[in-house]
Amino acid sequence: MRINCKACGHKARISSRNELSPTFIDLYCQCLDVNCGHTFVMSLTYSRTLRPSAGAIDQLLFDRLSQLPASQQRQLFDQLSTN
Ligand SMILES: [Zn+2]
Repeated sequence: MRINCKACGHKARISSRNELSPTFIDLYCQCLDVNCGHTFVMSLTYSRTLRPSAGAIDQLLFDRLSQLPASQQRQLFDQLSTN
């Protein structure tokens, strides 16, 4: 991740991080320009999912199938095996 100093625009580095929650992290940053030396905190937040995790899709499918009556489950698996 590229961070720039908000004071001078020079490249900055993340010196440490504080994970306040699994979706919100404070990043402690330090400007790499020796003539500036600005230190500041940036926040990193989770925004949204673009494509669900493959594991989540499998779980969703399993949950959906397990809610179906046994006869309907068998019918679906029979259809899968004939294709
Ligand atoms: Zn700076």
